[in-house]
Amino acid sequence: MADPDCLFCSIVAGTIPSETIDSDARTVAFMDINPATPGHALVVPREHSADLMEIGAEDLTATILAAQRLSRHMKDVLEADGINLINSCGAAAWQTVFHFHIHVVPRYEDDPLKLPWVPAPGDPEEIARIATRLRGEDG
Ligand code: 5GP
Ligand code: ZN
Repeated sequence: MADPDCLFCSIVAGTIPSETIDSDARTVAFMDINPATPGHALVVPREHSADLMEIGAEDLTATILAAQRLSRHMKDVLEADGINLINSCGAAAWQTVFHFHIHVVPRYEDDPLKLPWVPAPGDPEEIARIATRLRGEDG
């Protein structure tokens, strides 16, 4: 069901204009209006779901496959040197539009983007403790 208050539902419906670049039965891809690099686009399912927690398997599969198709196309047409696929789930993870989407960000050798964290070795005991919790072995 489309959410009448959702920006991306309105883009899918065509009531808010966008630079659409690809679509299929389940997904639409369009240009991001605040591009991180030249060519930055978003792939969304046609059906509304808020985020990664909520989206169903079929729409998730269709959206990631569409993102792969667009990534290959960007490598060809834009001569991108690499691609970042980014999904933000929840406000704490930078999500600002609550209709599931995958950012397809073409990367160029000389672009200015930086990793959003500084890689540094973690505490091995803490890593092992968290792994134990995630395996469900903490009682
Ligand atoms: P998020 O922050 O939720 O991961 O990503 C939302 C993205 O939507 C942002 O990159 C933002 O630039 C983009 N965006 C916000 N409003 C519009 C709009 O009206 N049209 C388009 N094409 N993109 C939008
Ligand atoms: Zn929506």
